[in-house]
Amino acid sequence: MVSFNVSQLLLEGPGATRDLDFHEPFPDPTNELHLKGPIAGHARLLRTSEGILAHTDFSARVILECGRCLEQAIAQVEGELDEEFLPTTDIRTGLPMQLPSGTEDDQPLIDEHHEIDLNEILRQNILTNLPLQPLCEPACPGLCPECGERLGPAHRAHAVKDSTETPVDPSNPFARLAVLLHNDEESA
Ligand SMILES: [Zn+2]
Ligand SMILES: [Zn+2]
Repeated sequence: MVSFNVSQLLLEGPGATRDLDFHEPFPDPTNELHLKGPIAGHARLLRTSEGILAHTDFSARVILECGRCLEQAIAQVEGELDEEFLPTTDIRTGLPMQLPSGTEDDQPLIDEHHEIDLNEILRQNILTNLPLQPLCEPACPGLCPECGERLGPAHRAHAVKDSTETPVDPSNPFARLAVLLHNDEESA
């Protein structure tokens, strides 16, 4: 969870800043982010006349499936975001505050405990920064079209089919099947 209490900053007035580092396990209940380990980053919070402007950069490791061989592909996701949070409670009086008219539904807010919560915007940012074509290694050779195993040092080359295969009689629908069965036995 990446959240900060900003009550001091709200009291200090416009122009005041805070720099905070974070290194936190991140909630990912449906594993849509494929996170491996915590999310780390830095937040610079700036008190504006309206609220708190949060500039955040972060990085997180994710485990995806290699686009070529389907093995694990570990990638680093990095992102940067700026978001202004508006107060819902007056820091001096403790009374609820009216949001400016025209405030969007997804406007990030400072909650009644004067906390800002970066989880949702970080989640969105990780999602949009996940690599589309993750690779287990840049030179991943992919899968063998013949046996479906991953190509590479552990994969043994297949013997070239010799030409002594029984010729198929095209007029006999079972001949082709017989050849297939025969070849199957041979490779077993
Ligand atoms: Zn791969
Ligand atoms: Zn193969």
